[in-house]
Amino acid sequence: MTHDELTRHLVSLDLPASQAGAVFGHLHRWGRPLLTVPRLSARQVQRLQETTQDTVCEVVTEASALAQDGVERDETEKLVFRLVDGRRVEGVIIPEGERSTFCVSSQVGCAMACTFCATARLGLARPLTPAEIVKQVYHARDRAEKAGRPLRNVVFMGMGEPLHHYENTRAAIDILTCRWGLSLGFPKITISTVGLVPRIAQLGADFGGRLQLALSLNAGTDETRRRIMPITEKWNLESLKEALRAYPTRRNRFHLLEYVVLPGVNDDDENLDGVAAFTRGLPAVVNLIPWNPFAGAPFQPPTFEDVGRIFDRLRARGVHVSVRLPRGRPMSAACGQLALQTSAMEAQF
Ligand code: SF4
Repeated sequence: MTHDELTRHLVSLDLPASQAGAVFGHLHRWGRPLLTVPRLSARQVQRLQETTQDTVCEVVTEASALAQDGVERDETEKLVFRLVDGRRVEGVIIPEGERSTFCVSSQVGCAMACTFCATARLGLARPLTPAEIVKQVYHARDRAEKAGRPLRNVVFMGMGEPLHHYENTRAAIDILTCRWGLSLGFPKITISTVGLVPRIAQLGADFGGRLQLALSLNAGTDETRRRIMPITEKWNLESLKEALRAYPTRRNRFHLLEYVVLPGVNDDDENLDGVAAFTRGLPAVVNLIPWNPFAGAPFQPPTFEDVGRIFDRLRARGVHVSVRLPRGRPMSAACGQLALQTSAMEAQF
């Protein structure tokens, strides 16, 4: 429940609405039992417990890049969560200096069918509830704190398209940013989307542009993008650019345009010219992501030199561009690789 929902729930039970903040804090900030809420009697706590239930979202396996590969020492940690119906999703803790970023999942599988992404192969099983999204973050927070690198950022870049079941994502953001709870800053949250145009507008209206928006661009022509991202049939590059233009970006903030580098697919002059045209007049940074391979995928991963060349060619076209270093590859925790690899997990789908 969001704070507002909890308040209404307390009122419906004839419990004091003034205790909503204390109850919310016990559940979301401190993880303490409700019996320790100071101004609630044991009887009142019992009524609350009888009318609510805790969400099942347990860590069942974990793997770190450090543990699996003596060469790649990036200390990225992948967590697998088991949900109440036995389904599983993955999240990734990425240490960055003295802090951590958590890549959270929003759906079990995904319906968007991007051809370069392992999650797409699972199809969509179901959306995650707001509670399941939030609980992943709390697990990550606890681990990051224990590791001495407190959680700083949450990125919706795990399994699923976060704007597909928008209401769930919005409720999760409400809970994560609530001042009685974790109180995460809005700019610390990044929503990565394939470009569901009406939902981008809603996100902008609901949060006033305070959230960081990342668009999974990946091509400079509609033709190429259609091949790798079927959603382009519905919303082409022109409509995406319009949506970004209308999104209320704050001063000194940039849209992130993610560009998964697929050699021989989206690295030709026509696509790069298209990217340059797309960014013209937009406060945007193109973030190059070397494609991370997974079994059976019809692409070749780029070399370091391939990515460097695209970087230079985009810069020469006047595009603001950066490169995302691959993290977590040894345990398939890098971008586009979250797909629940063990056979036991695949059996869930
Ligand atoms: S890239 Fe994102 S939106 Fe596309 S299939 Fe994968 S999880 Fe879904």
